[in-house]
Amino acid sequence: MTSSPAAVVVSAPSKDKATDRDQEYFEQALTQHLDWFAERGRPIRFWWRDDDAVSPTPELDELIGFSERFDVPLSLAVIPKFATETLAQRLTSTHTVQVLHHGWQHKNYQDKSRGEKASEFGWRRTALEMEKELLEGKEVLQSLFAERYVPLFVPPWNRIAPRAVQLLQQQGDYGLSAFTWINHFRLPRLQSHVDIIKWKKNERFIGWNAARKRLDLQLCRRQTNASEPIGLLTHHLDHGEGCSEFLEAFFKITSAHPAAVWLSSQELLEEAKRDFSQSSGQV
Ligand SMILES: [Zn+2]
Repeated sequence: MTSSPAAVVVSAPSKDKATDRDQEYFEQALTQHLDWFAERGRPIRFWWRDDDAVSPTPELDELIGFSERFDVPLSLAVIPKFATETLAQRLTSTHTVQVLHHGWQHKNYQDKSRGEKASEFGWRRTALEMEKELLEGKEVLQSLFAERYVPLFVPPWNRIAPRAVQLLQQQGDYGLSAFTWINHFRLPRLQSHVDIIKWKKNERFIGWNAARKRLDLQLCRRQTNASEPIGLLTHHLDHGEGCSEFLEAFFKITSAHPAAVWLSSQELLEEAKRDFSQSSGQV
């Protein structure tokens, strides 16, 4: 009987050297930016929005873990129609999580065959339908999450028609959060700016280089407007490889740096409302 050849030892796949280098470069670039603001005594404000929560999952637990470990407030955009009691129970033990209003059931009503972009609160729906869903959604979230609920409306797919903005305005205390630099004039706003997922094909982390460039752009803009918060956008159910590593590194640097301040959506919405009421009437 012949002896079998010695087993070839294959080490577990690890991050390749290029990824390590990219991460290092990202961390250096971010730190340099923050140092620039620290030297001038102008802190940069960050906030964190995570979308599509309905029930507790291991992926959500990981984000709640980051939030508590680094003391970074987490604003969860919850879909009212599918929000569960178990999610409400899961959040009762956290001190850093708030809940935002994410549409009604995350359903698209626009016509994709005509090339229209997905939207739940878009122009194809009547005001009556949308108003009913807005009121019902608010009621559900308030009764499930009580004081954790923050009246910040996050339209699914980050798109909202002017008619729906008007409905929010009529309800009095709403702010609006989407993903754009364009600010609606009708409502106080709190935008998100850096989405860490590459959505085309299969969802995954955008990569260290893309993350560096996106943050670079936002931080350069803050050199002339340091007061506008930078919104980090995540989607815990769609995080592929690389997202956890990025979030850990990003929170590690920003939570320890004197020029970076993490704020809750509640605090920032209050501020946005004050700014809004002061500037309304001005062109
Ligand atoms: Zn969504």
